[in-house]
Amino acid sequence: MDFDVIIIGSGPVGLSFARSLSDTDLRICVLEQSNVLSLSKPKYDGREVALTHLSKKIMSELEIWNRIDPQSISYIKEAKVLNGLSPYSLHFNHQETTEDALGHLIPNHEIKSAVYESIMDIENITLFTETKVEQFNINDEGVTVKLDNGDALTADLLIAADGRLSNARRAMGIPSEVKDFGKTVIVCKMEHELGHNNTAYECFHYGRTLAVLPMVGQCSSIVITISSNKAKQVLDMNEGDFNEDIQTRFRYKLGEMKIIGKKYSYPLFASHADYFHSERFALIGDVAVGMHPVTAHGFNLGLRGAYNLSKIIKKAQLSNQKYYSADTLVEYNRKHQMVTRPLYYGTNLIVDLYNSDRITAKILRRLALRFGNNFWPVKKLIMNQLTEKH
Ligand SMILES: Cc1cc2nc3c(=O)[nH]c(=O)nc-3n(C[C@H](O)[C@H](O)[C@H](O)COP(=O)(O)OP(=O)(O)OC[C@H]3O[C@@H](n4cnc5c(N)ncnc54)[C@H](O)[C@@H]3O)c2cc1C
Repeated sequence: MDFDVIIIGSGPVGLSFARSLSDTDLRICVLEQSNVLSLSKPKYDGREVALTHLSKKIMSELEIWNRIDPQSISYIKEAKVLNGLSPYSLHFNHQETTEDALGHLIPNHEIKSAVYESIMDIENITLFTETKVEQFNINDEGVTVKLDNGDALTADLLIAADGRLSNARRAMGIPSEVKDFGKTVIVCKMEHELGHNNTAYECFHYGRTLAVLPMVGQCSSIVITISSNKAKQVLDMNEGDFNEDIQTRFRYKLGEMKIIGKKYSYPLFASHADYFHSERFALIGDVAVGMHPVTAHGFNLGLRGAYNLSKIIKKAQLSNQKYYSADTLVEYNRKHQMVTRPLYYGTNLIVDLYNSDRITAKILRRLALRFGNNFWPVKKLIMNQLTEKH
């Protein structure tokens, strides 16, 4: 065997998984189609990623957190959910928890470069960039991966971390439920006149949603979810009109607002694989579950799954079992599905409820905000889900 474990994809989840096995004697190989510069110096992509306490804990243990510039970490202390034009909000405050913040907001490119740095110079991790997986074959003997340069590599276990549209998942014949919301997410950074007090807002306006997430300083990340046929109009808006539009929709809560840099857009769909494993094969990250960003769980879930899989592999090694056996992979599948399914379906339900213009949906969401605010067990449950504290 050339390697013990081959990982397809060096996104933040694929690399975190490699890092989590760095303290084993396994020979890990990561295959990435992009060039090394896109890993060592990733470009700003407009994505500000909200990280839970659990993610912080895992990233600290994997020595990733300490590589993130502290000046780029913003603390989310409060969160408010608003429905339509009503001033009433479902309100979460970190003071209702034992933590100094509900979560942390970090630019995606900072996370990516920190994860990459954490695997550099690790002896048992080999990274091949500008290397695309063409096809692979799995049988009782092991895994053979054919690369676009004509080479072939062998291993005992293959991990698919090649993103939401994973070719590897498709090649293995693992079905996946895909929910296309017919929407586009537009993200950008804006500076504003008034301080945000580290409060995140999720405003469910009719036909579109607006999230305003507190960044470091007098800046916020703006996340607009809008029907794809209307996205171009927003993307093409000139600066002045865009500033006016956002500050008006946000009712001048942050005073005058001004866009910094450009707008970025992402097509919006969610996906959930029916199962996360097959013989000598497992899915991690967005390959397993691609979340709608409204509950900010995508990377958090991917990291958690990858970390848990590494723990299960290490446990198998300690008890002298084959780490790539069906038992090991079944355990990962069972445990991770228990975490992902409620979050996936819960998130999609919220999205449907808050995007529907039906009168029953309007009444229901008004009730849901009041119920959430006034019924402490429900509020605590939502807070635990948001922060992944328990
Ligand atoms: C607007 C937006 C906001 C978001 N906000 C949040 C948030 O607040 N909190 C949160 O937790 N998550 C958030 N997410 C989700 C998060 O960004 C993703 O879950 C995360 O990036 C997934 O990482 P990954 O490593 O699984 O996949 P990816 O980052 O997609 O990486 C896949 C890698 O595989 C490589 N690859 C693909 N095919 C091949 C091949 N054949 N051979 C070799 N390499 C290959 C690709 O080049 C890529 O590098 C957000 C997403 C969006 C779009």
